[in-house]
Amino acid sequence: MKIGIAGLRHETVTFWPGFTDLDEFERVAFHGEQVIEARRGTNTAIGGFIDVCEKAGVELFPVCEVPGGATATVRDRVYDFYVSEMKREFAKVANELDGILLALHGAMVTESLQDAETHIIREIRQVIGYEKPIMVTLDLHGNLDPLILKEATAVFGYQSSPHVDMGETGRRAARTLLATLSGEIKPTTAIVKPGLVVPSVFSATTVSPAKDIIARLREWEQYPGVVDASVFFGFAWSDVHQLGMSAVAVTDDDPELAERVANDLAQLAWENRRALTRGENLYSVKEGVELAIKKAKKASKPIIILDHADRTGDTTFVLRELLAQGAQNAAAPCFVDPKAVEVCKKAGVGSGVELEIGGSTGWRDGGPLRVSGKVLWVGEGRYICSGPMWKGLEIDLGPTAIIKADGVWIQLITFKHSLINEDPFTKFGYKASDFDIIVTKSKTHFRAVYEKVGEEIIIVDAPGQCPADLSVFNYKNVPPGVYPITRK
Ligand SMILES: [Zn+2]
Repeated sequence: MKIGIAGLRHETVTFWPGFTDLDEFERVAFHGEQVIEARRGTNTAIGGFIDVCEKAGVELFPVCEVPGGATATVRDRVYDFYVSEMKREFAKVANELDGILLALHGAMVTESLQDAETHIIREIRQVIGYEKPIMVTLDLHGNLDPLILKEATAVFGYQSSPHVDMGETGRRAARTLLATLSGEIKPTTAIVKPGLVVPSVFSATTVSPAKDIIARLREWEQYPGVVDASVFFGFAWSDVHQLGMSAVAVTDDDPELAERVANDLAQLAWENRRALTRGENLYSVKEGVELAIKKAKKASKPIIILDHADRTGDTTFVLRELLAQGAQNAAAPCFVDPKAVEVCKKAGVGSGVELEIGGSTGWRDGGPLRVSGKVLWVGEGRYICSGPMWKGLEIDLGPTAIIKADGVWIQLITFKHSLINEDPFTKFGYKASDFDIIVTKSKTHFRAVYEKVGEEIIIVDAPGQCPADLSVFNYKNVPPGVYPITRK
């Protein structure tokens, strides 16, 4: 038995001015046999595919694995480059292939395509036809067009945000593919879109109501005839026709049951639409920082400030406020500024530096911030992720510098990354517990570690690129009636 494997993922912020081009994808891409070497044993969807298939003695045919980030609209040439590669390579072995496993995202938008994923699968179908199964993993934050299920045999979403189950999602897809090929099951699917979109900060599956929706999904998975279920919370900052949540069910030759499961999950989401889109206890930057400083005085563990609206990794709203309010022993890890890193490198460890950092895009970023401090560390920020999310994956922050500016420890990096675990401290000789206040720009992924490591999480809704308040954006492609979007 021979199974084809490919991955291409991007979470597109269509409001972000400009485009994401091929060099940003190729920097992190793997091709051919490299895919297996890079992903075997990692907590990623492709790592899960490899795990199940190798244990079953299945031969793998890997084409590419391209884990793009969350940035501006993708250039058409990026789509053309990777989709041509997939079609060309799969065509070479089309007769030998029994099926295909794809690791996609669900919120990739190109210059020409609002729903890149459906098109990717449709193009691969041109090569291998509609008889052979194609199973697809997608991110919990995908905006699915129901047409995707005309092209894919079934789709499988991460069921956790933090995405600590990427490997398991790959295993679910691969197990279902093998069961389909052996004739053990005949997958039937249903998708229901409840008509709402959830700002990612409210999609944390460790917090209600997202937690309750996943609990209901788990109950359905135990129901006889149900093979798999997913709830996609959508990606709010993509102005696309298919914006919003989707509930998907996969059953064994039972379309009515699939409809029932998907309808029930979509209904539960709709009933919770207010809490899923507004949340509670969102602070302004000023209030949030004030509260963090006050609470840090009595806390036994660090107070976590969640600056969820930052997508560029270099917005300065929170850092500016920490310095203005004289915060002590605070940490701002993973702050993107390649130029500032170079200045620190030239100055050397122990030197004083005057820097203008952040605010590089000029788009809802708070503008550059002047800081003066002392260089504590310079070098290459490259390490193997300790997990749980992305466990085993190589993380490359690029050239990195750490400075202390008044009471704030600032880690300047070259390639965007969010604080999701303790690695950005421990790999550089520090611990999270060294600090009284820690700023993270992760949305939900940090919770896998910081719900335990932190004393309390204070969510600030800074006026960054992806705030919880969606009314500041002018949506043009989203059809009327998707809660809470208001058409202007
Ligand atoms: Zn996601």
